[in-house]
Amino acid sequence: MPDTIFSKIIAGEVPCHRVYEDDLVLAFLDVNPLSYGHTLVIPKEARATLGELSDDSAAAIGRVLPRLCRAVAKAAGVADSNVVQNNGAPAGQAVLHVHFHIIPRMPDEPEGRQGVRLVWKPGKLENGEELAEKIRARLD
Ligand code: 5GP
Repeated sequence: MPDTIFSKIIAGEVPCHRVYEDDLVLAFLDVNPLSYGHTLVIPKEARATLGELSDDSAAAIGRVLPRLCRAVAKAAGVADSNVVQNNGAPAGQAVLHVHFHIIPRMPDEPEGRQGVRLVWKPGKLENGEELAEKIRARLD
């Protein structure tokens, strides 16, 4: 996988405001925050999308994500947040190194950076059992 800006941050070649680090995980402040406290959580393993990530890196992120969510929300002084993870450019991924955004949700302010707004247009589930089986059959 080609190097991204996040590989350079992990290597210490590009500076960041580090929030957390262990052998497998690094968390740091997003340079263009959607709200106060916007933090990125990344594996040190260089993989573009979540589906490519090793179980060890995934587990390491899963272990620390709740603690980081709590700390970010407390520092931002809010109770609410979104955790967002984009896979692939059409899904909004700009940096092709797996990352989770922790984005505190601020109270509504006309001009403020409130956090992420998801456009959520739900449909109605049809043929659910057929679809669930299709997914189960593809679990590797
Ligand atoms: P994506 O759109 O790929 O899900 O999000 C990439 C995020 O990385 C963006 O929110 C962007 O602001 C952040 N980002 C890109 N380059 C840098 C950088 O050099 N330093 C930091 N701290 N964040 C970055």
